[in-house]
Amino acid sequence: MKRRTFVKQSTLCLAGLALAPGCLLKEKPSGVTHPNLVLVFPDQMRGQALGFLHEEIVFTPNLDRFARESVVFSQTVSNYPVCSPFRASLMSGKYPPSHGVLGNCNSKSAEYGYELKTNERCWSDILKEKGYSLGYIGKWHLDNPHKPYVKCYNNTEKFAWNEWCPPKRRHGFDFWYAYGTYDRHLNPMYWTTTAKRDEPIWVNEWGPKHEADLAIRYIKNEGGQFRQPDRPFALVVAMNPPHMPYDQVPRKYQELYRDIPLEKLCKRPNIPPAGTKWGDYYRRHIKNYLAMISGVDEQFGRILQALEEANLADQTIVIFTSDHGNCLGIHDKISKSNPYEESMRVPFLIRWPGKIAPRQDDLLLSSPDIYPTILDLMGFSEDIPPEVEGVSHAQLLLQGERPRPTSQLYYQIPYGLPAGGSRGVRTHRYTLVITRRPDKKDEEIILFDRQTDPFQMTNIASKRPDLVKRLINDELMPWLKKTKDPWLEQG
Ligand code: CA
Repeated sequence: MKRRTFVKQSTLCLAGLALAPGCLLKEKPSGVTHPNLVLVFPDQMRGQALGFLHEEIVFTPNLDRFARESVVFSQTVSNYPVCSPFRASLMSGKYPPSHGVLGNCNSKSAEYGYELKTNERCWSDILKEKGYSLGYIGKWHLDNPHKPYVKCYNNTEKFAWNEWCPPKRRHGFDFWYAYGTYDRHLNPMYWTTTAKRDEPIWVNEWGPKHEADLAIRYIKNEGGQFRQPDRPFALVVAMNPPHMPYDQVPRKYQELYRDIPLEKLCKRPNIPPAGTKWGDYYRRHIKNYLAMISGVDEQFGRILQALEEANLADQTIVIFTSDHGNCLGIHDKISKSNPYEESMRVPFLIRWPGKIAPRQDDLLLSSPDIYPTILDLMGFSEDIPPEVEGVSHAQLLLQGERPRPTSQLYYQIPYGLPAGGSRGVRTHRYTLVITRRPDKKDEEIILFDRQTDPFQMTNIASKRPDLVKRLINDELMPWLKKTKDPWLEQG
């Protein structure tokens, strides 16, 4: 079946793209053509913050237009909604117990070796072997800082975050303009492809604008200075906004929200009231958070425009997503790493003109699924390593109905305690989370019925022990067994 679909797809490619200038990879003897890939993912953009969904007031005209041309997977989550664990799942196609990045990369997690493995076989490694040019622009955050720390504001002797990624750990990306983690949006830093560890550069420009400018140059590739002109390419643009600090955003985006009454943006019942710590936090930052999203939207639109101008749109798969969401004070949570929808749910839009029919789909997509799905779509299904734990949804994208997962995993893992923290599942209707509390020697169970309680206001676990048991047996346990989670050994 796979082979037949593959050939059919390839024939479509050939028919549709015969006149496109030399950017298709032709593999002998099959004559198969393979598309380019552009993956754009800002940091901390929640899935609700898309104008066309009408879930909250936010201006995203470019994403609204892009959505009409895309498959929108509206129920996509970040399974472990924090930076580095998501990024490792994206690159490796595995869940955290298998890729080993059980928390954010920093000087604390360095003690436990939480970083992307040098010998991990990432999708980008495979595309490199296939002859692709690969570019990475923006935030990487998959290396542990080591002493002496790189000199920058978020590395101190006591605690360090940022690190250079040496070329041997770039997993096939031959064009590099990136950093570990660094939250100065108006004065970002980068290491270029050839820069040594002590040679970062600082830029006086809002990060997403600067990165979109570079992405546009990469796509247009004038004079062949960025990539091989006769080969396909994959480009990742990992923007930092709308990550905090929220006030580091150009005024023109703030202006979009200036005249909207603040309380109009605070109508969701899970936003704490004004006068409370987190209610005030939300009100202090929401306009800037939305302004950043509008800025990211504009820069994403410019990248799409560049694909049109370079006559590459039809032969390029474009994905827009985020590494996790943002509570911004909702449920008294400062941002992410919790099982609330605003933290877990992320945008996921994928476009391939003429190949996948635009629609909205409630597939329960998980972070590790992205890797096999893109490789399968691009014509490399046979190269997906057996160790990859995500599943390909390429045939669902191309042909419609396919077997669908019935739930998505949730993780939260304390540093150094791989069998501790929380595990949970999110189905179309329920969110179940079990948290081990070593101090109390028990487990806390949270169950939300999002159909009757979409804002997750009431924990019904004690009222529905039957349902808790069923979700554990039918959904959570099979996941934990499949992923060989050490949680099982200490249960
Ligand atoms: Ca992040």
